[in-house]
Amino acid sequence: MTHAPNHDVDMLIVGAGPAGLYAGYYAGFRGLRIAIADMLELPGGQITALYPEKKIFDVAGFPEVLGRELVERLVHQVEPFGPLWVLGTRVEGLERVGERWHVTLSNGESISTTVVVITGGIGTFEPRPLPVGREYEGRGLIYYVPRPADLANKRIVIVGGGDSAFDWALALEPIATSVTLVHRRDSFRAHEHTIDLVKSRSTNIVVNAEVTKITGEENITSVEITTKSGEVLEVDADIVVAALGFVAHLGPLAEWGLEMNKRTIVTDSAMHTNLPGVFAAGDITEYPGKVRLIAVGFGEAALAVNNAMTVIDPTKSAFPGHSSENV
Ligand SMILES: Cc1cc2nc3c(=O)[nH]c(=O)nc-3n(C[C@H](O)[C@H](O)[C@H](O)COP(=O)(O)OP(=O)(O)OC[C@H]3O[C@@H](n4cnc5c(N)ncnc54)[C@H](O)[C@@H]3O)c2cc1C
Repeated sequence: MTHAPNHDVDMLIVGAGPAGLYAGYYAGFRGLRIAIADMLELPGGQITALYPEKKIFDVAGFPEVLGRELVERLVHQVEPFGPLWVLGTRVEGLERVGERWHVTLSNGESISTTVVVITGGIGTFEPRPLPVGREYEGRGLIYYVPRPADLANKRIVIVGGGDSAFDWALALEPIATSVTLVHRRDSFRAHEHTIDLVKSRSTNIVVNAEVTKITGEENITSVEITTKSGEVLEVDADIVVAALGFVAHLGPLAEWGLEMNKRTIVTDSAMHTNLPGVFAAGDITEYPGKVRLIAVGFGEAALAVNNAMTVIDPTKSAFPGHSSENV
């Protein structure tokens, strides 16, 4: 039995990555009531989770832009339209009820919507957990650093040897009280240039070692590090950043009856899927000639939302008019 929905919108956008955020802008521009849902606690999708400190060079109009800044600008662009943000929540079930979709969420709530735009990218990310200290999640153990400024004046231990670990070491070192980077090997998987920059600064790099214990009453106060040779170090810390990578799962979307090609959703040129009123945009879509880039996702988001508009109100055209005339 379908329960009465908690929220009623014209369009639910599943995924707050760049494609979903830009879809939100266009939906707002078209006067739609929108909800934007994401499993992550913060918007930005792969950019926020994996590379907020990297510069992006191929977004039209921005010769270079920091990942974090691009996300901030996208959020700024959609905010005036007052979307319902449903963050930290997985979108789970999709059921047709009359002419609408009833969508269930992992927080126990549900949304009734006329159309769904799936901008789920490569799926939801789950951080690879640290073998120890998971009880400190929310009390100092974190998996990504979308806003380094939040960690100013903290003693930080970063675990990992890849791009994210080194990018964050570089971003945090100037503002943190101390940064220690712990990696279980003595070779790294980050850009040489970034490694050299981190090495040239005050970050303490401990190789061939693992975090074996996190301690602290309420919040983290120290971290035990054990080297392969059996040496045990005690490092004062407020924050542990476990930068061990993410595992992506398509999860419930794969059960929705969508026409799929492996982990992607097949769309037509209007970004319509095989389900009525269900559109898709961004990395998750598949059609001949598909290229997985932010720029392409933006274009697909505009196509998906504006074509969805004709489903929500058949008297409307897919062409939205020019935003420049909307003063
Ligand atoms: C290290 C790195 C560097 C990159 N550099 C560039 C670059 O320079 N230029 C470029 O164009 N591209 C770059 N990319 C690729 C770019 O990040 C992606 O193309 C882009 O993020 C895709 O955007 P999206 O909105 O389609 O999906 P994503 O960014 O993957 O966002 C999808 C969101 O959907 C959410 N989601 C999925 N399923 C559910 C569900 N069931 N419930 C709730 N939420 C859900 C996820 O949590 C995620 O936040 C890079 C990628 C990486 C990893």
